[in-house]
Amino acid sequence: MKYVKVSSLFFVLILLMSNAVYAAPQDGNAKHAFDNKIVKRVNVDNMYNHIYNLSEVIGPRGAGTEGELQTVDYLVDQFESYGYDNVEVQEFTFTSGGEEITSYNVSAVKEPMQNHNTDQQVMVGSHHDSVPWGQGANDDASGTAAVLELARVFANTPTDTAIKFVAFGAEEYGLWGSRKYAEAMPAEEAERTVAMFQMDMVGSKDAGDLVMFTADGQKNTVTDLGAAAGSRVSELVPYSQLGRSDHVPFHNLGIPAALFIHTPLEPWYHTEDDIIEHISKDKLKDVADTVGSAVYQITRKDTPALERSAVAPVPVDYYYEEPEL
Ligand SMILES: [Zn+2]
Repeated sequence: MKYVKVSSLFFVLILLMSNAVYAAPQDGNAKHAFDNKIVKRVNVDNMYNHIYNLSEVIGPRGAGTEGELQTVDYLVDQFESYGYDNVEVQEFTFTSGGEEITSYNVSAVKEPMQNHNTDQQVMVGSHHDSVPWGQGANDDASGTAAVLELARVFANTPTDTAIKFVAFGAEEYGLWGSRKYAEAMPAEEAERTVAMFQMDMVGSKDAGDLVMFTADGQKNTVTDLGAAAGSRVSELVPYSQLGRSDHVPFHNLGIPAALFIHTPLEPWYHTEDDIIEHISKDKLKDVADTVGSAVYQITRKDTPALERSAVAPVPVDYYYEEPEL
């Protein structure tokens, strides 16, 4: 009699737990326990401050300028302040209009747990440069702010998969930073990199909705994770086809990669008016929550293990949307 009582209590407890796991998102707050580990800690004011520092205090951050050097210092300082002791600055040069330009990629790696290590890696990227004539608050201080905030959140989050955060240089001159980065990546590292999330222009009030773009217009691991995470913490994210950002060189290495961006683009795109006044905190938070939850789904302990449905979120059906830019 006692035994039965205990086991039925246990059953009720399990029912309650599974209900908590599957409850639908309400008011943008994730009800999934795993997502909450990210969503509740992503602080939009931190992101807004990064955009302020990058676009207002530093200002234009064209590749090879004084603004870029200040940006690189800022990124290194931020990563180190979160406890990363493996920050790397990769210098590279390229030629534009007969002029040789030096630029930099800045990265930091969140290491996996020692005794739970898949030996896999997920990348989360942005580009830190702006067009030379503008402050680039949305393009791409917004994505860089999200990279920094996710790096801060994940710094103290145990995962079984490494997460490499990278802010690329010289994107606006033709994806130079990401191309150089991919070119220098050891084959062994490319092999164990299972997903690459790129965030470029993720905070404009005046742009459309979030879309995931793949270089070949096909779904992949990143879009599967992004769509599912979006449906849990915000809304379902469609996918589409576009190159034109730093996901492309990694796609070319055979790594599942996608660009997260709002489309149609805002009227301030690549103008002097791409300034912080046009940034939406809601949009920033939404993208960081979605990408952060997607990254956590694949990097947390015991995943991917979707068949273990008691702990893993279910895949979702999502759709292709014609590119609108
Ligand atoms: Zn951009």
